[in-house]
Amino acid sequence: MVDGVFSGLFRLLLPERCSLCRQVAPGPVCGDCRADLPWNHSACPRCARPQESGPGHVCATCAEAPPPFDSGWSAFRYQIPIDKAVQGLKYHAGFRSAQWLGQEMGRALAQRALPLPQVLLPVPLHAGRLRGRGYNQALELARAIGGVLDVEVDARGAARLRATADQIGKSAAERRRNVKGAFAVTAGRYDGKHIALVDDVMTTGSTLAELARACRKAGASRIEVWTAARAV
Ligand SMILES: [Zn+2]
Ligand SMILES: [Zn+2]
Repeated sequence: MVDGVFSGLFRLLLPERCSLCRQVAPGPVCGDCRADLPWNHSACPRCARPQESGPGHVCATCAEAPPPFDSGWSAFRYQIPIDKAVQGLKYHAGFRSAQWLGQEMGRALAQRALPLPQVLLPVPLHAGRLRGRGYNQALELARAIGGVLDVEVDARGAARLRATADQIGKSAAERRRNVKGAFAVTAGRYDGKHIALVDDVMTTGSTLAELARACRKAGASRIEVWTAARAV
C-alpha cells in the first residue's frame, strides 16, 4: 500500500519518458520514435490497405469489388509497435494509448485538406462486451479525434445487436456472414450526412463494411472509415 503511494508520487514527480525508448520526452512517444512509427502513408484510398505503388491508387481488390464505404484511411500499419499499442487498448484499460492514438489520428487527418465529416460514429461494442471491458476503445479514439478536429461524436448512433464471434482465423466470406445484421442504426439518423466510422483496427474490413451498410440505409450520403491501424 505504502509502496503504491510512493511509486504513484514518483511517477507524478518524474519527467515523462518515451514508452518506446525510455528517454525523457514531452509526451508518451518521443520525436525520434514517432518518426520511426509505421505510418500508413502509401495506401489504397478506398480500403486503406497498405501498398507500395504510391498513394491514390485503388487496389486490385477494391477495383473488382468496391467496399460499401466511400473511402478508407488508417494512420498506421498494424506492425510493431503500433500492434502492441492497439492490443493495449483492448486488454488493459488503455485510456492513455487511446488518447495518444486518437490525437495522432486527428492531427494527420487535419492535414489532408479534405472536407471533414459532420459526425464521427465509433463502432459500437455489444452491451455485454462493454460491461466486461468497461469502455469502448473505438469511442475513446473518436473522442480524441473529435477533440482535435472539432467534429461531433455520436456515441449512441448505432447499436450492436449481438456480440459477434472473434474474426481471427476466419475467411473473408465467413467474416462477412459473422457480422451480417449485427448493427442497428435508426432510420434517417444520418440523412444526407457525411460521416466517418471510427475503429481501432481494420483487418478485412467486414465489420466496418456491415456498419457502413446500416448507415447507408439510415441515409448517410458519404461514409468514410478511419482506423488507427490497418492490417498489412
Ligand atoms: Zn523514444
Ligand atoms: Zn482497396
